[in-house]
Amino acid sequence: MTDGFATRAIHAGQEPDPNTGSVITPIHATSTYAQDGVGGLRQGYEYSRTGNPTRTALEEVLAALENGQHARAFASGMAATDAILRATMRPGDHLIIPDDAYGGTFRLIDKVLAGWGIEYTPVRLSDVDAVRSAIRPNTKVLWVETPTNPLLGIADIAALAQLSHDTGTTLVVDNTFASPYLQQPLELGAKVVLHSTTKYLGGHSDVVGGAMITSDEQLASDVAFLQNSAGAVPGPFDAFLTMRGLKTLGVRMDRHCANAERIVAALQSHPKVGRVYYPGLESHPGHEVAAKQMNQFGGMVSFTHVDGEQAALEVCSRTRLFTLAESLGGIESLVEHPGKMTHASTAGSLLQVPSELVRLSVGIEEVDDLLDDLLSALG
Ligand SMILES: *Cc1c(COP(=O)(O)O)cnc(C)c1O
Repeated sequence: MTDGFATRAIHAGQEPDPNTGSVITPIHATSTYAQDGVGGLRQGYEYSRTGNPTRTALEEVLAALENGQHARAFASGMAATDAILRATMRPGDHLIIPDDAYGGTFRLIDKVLAGWGIEYTPVRLSDVDAVRSAIRPNTKVLWVETPTNPLLGIADIAALAQLSHDTGTTLVVDNTFASPYLQQPLELGAKVVLHSTTKYLGGHSDVVGGAMITSDEQLASDVAFLQNSAGAVPGPFDAFLTMRGLKTLGVRMDRHCANAERIVAALQSHPKVGRVYYPGLESHPGHEVAAKQMNQFGGMVSFTHVDGEQAALEVCSRTRLFTLAESLGGIESLVEHPGKMTHASTAGSLLQVPSELVRLSVGIEEVDDLLDDLLSALG
């Protein structure tokens, strides 16, 4: 029998240290490893760009949590994204991306990889027929985010997995918003999972990192080759911090979700709030799919202010506990204005967001304090 999620989060890849009994995986702060005679590696390690025991422990627990065979950790989510795309695409190949893709993903593809001959089409991924008709003979990758940022759009992973299977394309799911506690894309047929471990997995806003997880042997080895060749690896301290965060992922996510649901209910009945974006709402167009593929609906909530952009900006600057900042997924609550902050670069493009939109990353503080803060900021 496989251990449950919380047990894997605490134990997978993290046996007590065989040399000292240290219960917690040591931070192996070393660049190189002594050899017993030329080529005589003691535990397979020769140089820390290629491999480091603290990083290995992180990679093992990440694979275990996504129910994958292999994981590779990177210095950031973008570094992991870059490695996945370089491993799966060649000049002249085409990929499909969400029409509301994470801004950094869009920038990497549009400003960097397109210059190396990669073609792409942004598509509304909740519409499987639209995805099917955007597939060309040279399409190699379907890049999926669900839920999306900041409008919490939902894509049907199982349906897109079937489509990718039928068309011989690789389905990659950016699982950053849900985390493996709420959603396991490999179980639903995806070939690769991408994480910005900076967000819920690290969970404490104190480290930047990324990872890819897959059960495909060839792809895992191609990404490992790139990880070592390009070298965008996390240091052992970063790996340690991420692992420390992962141990409490389940309890944190339960609280993020419970707090978010209370906040959504309060926003819905507030006269200054227009539309509330949350996949847990029955009125959300992706609710049925979300209910099918997620265990709970997450800690991210967006809403519009009925009085427009200026009023939305004022809410962002009037909160006391919700800190005005980019990023998400930490224990502390954050508020931001996507139109002027995280999504400013999408102005005038297909990816533009409503200017009266406010995005919340609901933390795990006492929910009554959060409600009090938010309601007084709304006035
Ligand atoms: C933050 C984020 C990324 C990029 O990760 P970094 O760790 O910031 O490089 C990718 N996808 C999503 C959905 C994100 O939120």
